[in-house]
Amino acid sequence: MPTYRSGLDFALESDKNDVLASYRNQFHMPKDSNGNQLIYMTGNSLGLQPKLTKAYIEQELEDWANLGVEGHTDAKNPWLPYHEFLTESMAGVVGAKPIEVIVMNTLTVNLHLMMVSFYKPTKTRYKILIESDAFPSDKYAVESQLRHHGFDDTDGLILWKPRKGEELLRYEDLEVILKREGDAIALIMIGGVNYYTGQYFDLKRITELGHKYGCTVGFDCAHGAGNVKLNLHDSGADFAVWCTYKYLNSGPGSLAGCFVHERHAHRKDLNRFTGWWSHNKQTRFNMRDPFDQLPGAEGWQLSNPPILSMAAIRASLDIFHEVGIEKLVEKSKRLTGYFQFLLKELGEDVIRIITPENPEERGCQLSIQVVNADKTLHNRLTEAGVISDWRAPDVIRCAPVPLYNSFEDVYNLVERLKGILK
Ligand SMILES: *Cc1c(COP(=O)(O)O)cnc(C)c1O
Repeated sequence: MPTYRSGLDFALESDKNDVLASYRNQFHMPKDSNGNQLIYMTGNSLGLQPKLTKAYIEQELEDWANLGVEGHTDAKNPWLPYHEFLTESMAGVVGAKPIEVIVMNTLTVNLHLMMVSFYKPTKTRYKILIESDAFPSDKYAVESQLRHHGFDDTDGLILWKPRKGEELLRYEDLEVILKREGDAIALIMIGGVNYYTGQYFDLKRITELGHKYGCTVGFDCAHGAGNVKLNLHDSGADFAVWCTYKYLNSGPGSLAGCFVHERHAHRKDLNRFTGWWSHNKQTRFNMRDPFDQLPGAEGWQLSNPPILSMAAIRASLDIFHEVGIEKLVEKSKRLTGYFQFLLKELGEDVIRIITPENPEERGCQLSIQVVNADKTLHNRLTEAGVISDWRAPDVIRCAPVPLYNSFEDVYNLVERLKGILK
């Protein structure tokens, strides 16, 4: 266990010893109207812009200007295979093999495409299990899949809920649900790191449990990718999806990631939606050939992708590739551990942290309940130069991101919170 001390000197000393400290300068830090740097704690919502990004996008704009359609083959980074330049780094970030990973579409779209292939309900096995406080888009998506297949979206949805008076989910309770209803569950779809509580689930444990009962298992890793060490391949999950605009710093609405486990890479029996980008690259432009499925996650692509968005992803992934997810997670644990330490000093009668205490069961985000607080507290934090976010009914989410947040940021955040609470 790392040891922490209160006082600014500890924060400054930790920043001095931080091998990743210089990366902060590689990002644009938002400022207030007086030009003072804000304390940005919402990398879990929209990651900051790497300074590199502009040059990467400008390169593609320039090649488009100079080459027009020839850029597909003649651009410095040719557009036809552009997504391939992202694969290896992205696979490294999520702990997958290159054949298992593709960057395409946006998150909820990918979730639907995965359900087209991995939600195959029958008359007796048609239910979908999600966590009770799943991200709304995920809940809406699975409900619509149930309706699409002619099932009732209330009857068909099973919620893994926390116990009364608790916030976090327990695996024993999931086991009970599966023992009782496992035969009726077609798909288990869980947010790998819950957006609200920050609980990082044991993906492998959930997958093994689900598979034991004959369910397919997928994860939405929007809050996991770039935040925790995911090991998607080893988890054995059938599929996973994630976005790139949160911890992966690739810009608002940027393209999303998708993982399909290697064991499905060559399957032709899976139901899927297809387009010309799921077709064999060698014969794609013959135009009149019968459909020939690309193997691996690439085979789920539909369209030729937006290069400008991919350029932003590439800039960001280059940073992740250079740093490595191990080093990042190591700092993250120290930084968030420090954050937890300072919050606890405020007293449990004032503040409750609902995120798991065990660093293996969370990423960098802490979800904080302030006793008797309402949204005005969050507004005052914003006025004090802290960008955090408020999630009803009473939670402030703060995510010190190891790539660009410092120990001093965390110290200042808690000092300002302290000032407001007084
Ligand atoms: C951020 C997030 C989304 C957002 O979906 P988009 O399709 O990118 O708009 C969906 N699900 C989860 C779990 C998220 O964290």
